[in-house]
Amino acid sequence: ITDKIGTLSEDEPFFSFEFFPPKTEHGTRNLYARLGRMSLMGPLFVTVTWGAGGTTLRKSMDLAITCQKELGLTTCLHLTCTNTTKKVIDDTLRKAKENGICNILALRGDPPRGSSLSHDCGDFEHAVDLVRYIRQQYGDYFCIGVAGYPEGHADGFYDQSQNPTKDMPYLVDKINAGADFVMTQLFFDVDSYLKFDKLLRSQSDLVNKRITVIPGLMPINSYNVFQRATKLSHASIPDSVLDRFPEDIQVDDDKVKEIGVTIINEMIAEIHEKTGGKTKGFHFYTLNLEKSIAQIVNQSSILNKVVEKKEKEVEECVSESSD
Ligand code: FAD
Repeated sequence: ITDKIGTLSEDEPFFSFEFFPPKTEHGTRNLYARLGRMSLMGPLFVTVTWGAGGTTLRKSMDLAITCQKELGLTTCLHLTCTNTTKKVIDDTLRKAKENGICNILALRGDPPRGSSLSHDCGDFEHAVDLVRYIRQQYGDYFCIGVAGYPEGHADGFYDQSQNPTKDMPYLVDKINAGADFVMTQLFFDVDSYLKFDKLLRSQSDLVNKRITVIPGLMPINSYNVFQRATKLSHASIPDSVLDRFPEDIQVDDDKVKEIGVTIINEMIAEIHEKTGGKTKGFHFYTLNLEKSIAQIVNQSSILNKVVEKKEKEVEECVSESSD
């Protein structure tokens, strides 16, 4: 991923998509059709989520292999390490490498409901342990991403409070242990993101000063899902966002989506502008849905350049093959 980012010109934007493995055969078929269409939008890479404790192990791996090998998409496999044995981690990394997957998002994950981290951590306690282990076992083969939390990480098991300053030394540890990029939790408060980005870059003990930080954004597909997802991820919703959804709008999914697209595009434009164009890549939590994403990337004054470039490539490819 960072090699690909390195080949882009300084002001060339990019975006990426997150997918999760569907539970049913029917869901999987639908997703594969969607993946084909969404790959034509031109994501720089896609990521595939992992059920903590390896609960989606086979499905996550199958989906990642399909994305990487069949669709030719640069794929990043999420991998959580808590409540997980070294054997599962070893088997997963080996299989990823065998299938040409060379990007891992190294995460701690959360223990299964009802269990406790402190009682059964498995072989790894924190994400940094996984980053170190991957580097130790595989050298530079994998490009490693780690999670960052613009509003602070709320740890349901130790501490529900959120404080980005408290988390910062641990994020720096993950980077210094060998992480190549940081991907953030979803957020709607742009100021928090900008402060987080600045705080990270000001850390004096940060070895890799050119670390890539990719903001994570979630399209608003329905008001209920929006409320649930922000609650689960402990993301605050600024009044300026909430005010755009008066009660009569909340029940109108089409209207909610339309306003959601505008909100996300305003966030992209603000982050791009306020970081002087340095933040030019955006990651989308797609929830495996296509419509809002297509509208966002097509309507964004920044990201639509990527879509146009991809359309041109596809046209050239079609005309070459018909010559
Ligand atoms: P860590 O970096 O280990 O941090 C966890 C907590 O421990 C933080 O509060 C940190 O401050 C603290 N901490 C870290 N190191 C130390 C230390 N040495 N001493 C004391 N405290 C420490 N979950 C999934 O199950 N599957 C997924 O696919 C998935 N994808 C995600 C993708 C993104 C982009 C993000 C942001 C999160 C994702 N998660 C996923 C959720 C993630 O697993 C949880 O948020 C988890 O609670 C923390 O994981 P972490 O990698 O940030 O952990």
